[in-house]
Amino acid sequence: MTTHREPLSSVLETIGETPLVRVHDSPDEVPVYAKLESFNPGASIKDRIGKYMLERMLERGDVGAGGTVVEPTAGNTGIGLAVAANQLGLNAVFVVPERFSVEKQQLMRALGAEVVNTPSEDGMGFAIGRAHEIADELDDAVVPQQFSNPLNAEAHYATTAPEIGDALDDEVGAVVAGCGTGGTLMGMARYFRDRHPDTHVVAVEPAGSAYREFLGQDVEHEEYKTEGIGTHDIERNELFDPELVDDIRSIPDREVHEEMGRLAAEEGQLVASSAAANAIAAKRVARGIRDGAIDAPYETVATVFPDSSERYLSKGVYRSFEEWEG
Ligand code: PMP
Repeated sequence: MTTHREPLSSVLETIGETPLVRVHDSPDEVPVYAKLESFNPGASIKDRIGKYMLERMLERGDVGAGGTVVEPTAGNTGIGLAVAANQLGLNAVFVVPERFSVEKQQLMRALGAEVVNTPSEDGMGFAIGRAHEIADELDDAVVPQQFSNPLNAEAHYATTAPEIGDALDDEVGAVVAGCGTGGTLMGMARYFRDRHPDTHVVAVEPAGSAYREFLGQDVEHEEYKTEGIGTHDIERNELFDPELVDDIRSIPDREVHEEMGRLAAEEGQLVASSAAANAIAAKRVARGIRDGAIDAPYETVATVFPDSSERYLSKGVYRSFEEWEG
């Protein structure tokens, strides 16, 4: 692992090579390891795709230096893209539905990006349309569109997954990750399936989200508080390949809330709701492997903790469940 002890010339060089830490509350026989993605400079896993997508798009000439990146994003992707744009000489405009964390929008602005809010009730589909309209009005602008851009999953195939593989000698029995775009899970699944075709792959979503419709199941759509994962419109999740997935676990907000508190109190982990959902699902998969209910080539489960709880304190993540649900 790179230690980053040598002097670096740009904050972009600090992206990735995050620590992989044991989740204590997982079986000794089948430990769960989580990649702590809040160690990235923009404090989330999305710094990886911000850097990777913009570097590749500049190389390919999709956008030139001085051009503009326009992305509809709930937040972390905006921060990741803003950090990269800031250092790669690009302008950034983000289209954000109002209901998402104000903290994230403040950080995007501090990094020099413009934030355009759209009404929450119009949803993400509307924000996507608005982003394309803005890009069309500009001279040299590109919409990376994380929901359909293969570079998103590729970033995890090229960085997140090999870092986990190196730390665990490629002996990863199962990969478990919450799906927003599905980029993280698809990149990790392809990398470890290339190494062992029987790697068990599990997607995680909040209860009320519709990812299970990919498996032909009926889903009752409901709102959820868990942030950054889940979908209400699987048509939009173009990166998600159900063929690569063995199972989809839907975790209720109440369990996520309890696990967020437990991770902080018992494991010193100040992680947010999607990390807690991943921890719950990964521990279940680990127990399944231990008990023989799940076949996996190795007795280790890998997941990610995408960001930190600090980003959501104003939403009451550590207050009572009722206060968080608001
Ligand atoms: N957790 C958080 C906090 C996120 O912001 C995201 C990205 N929306 C995810 C998990 C899911 O990552 P992906 O888009 O790669 O599925």
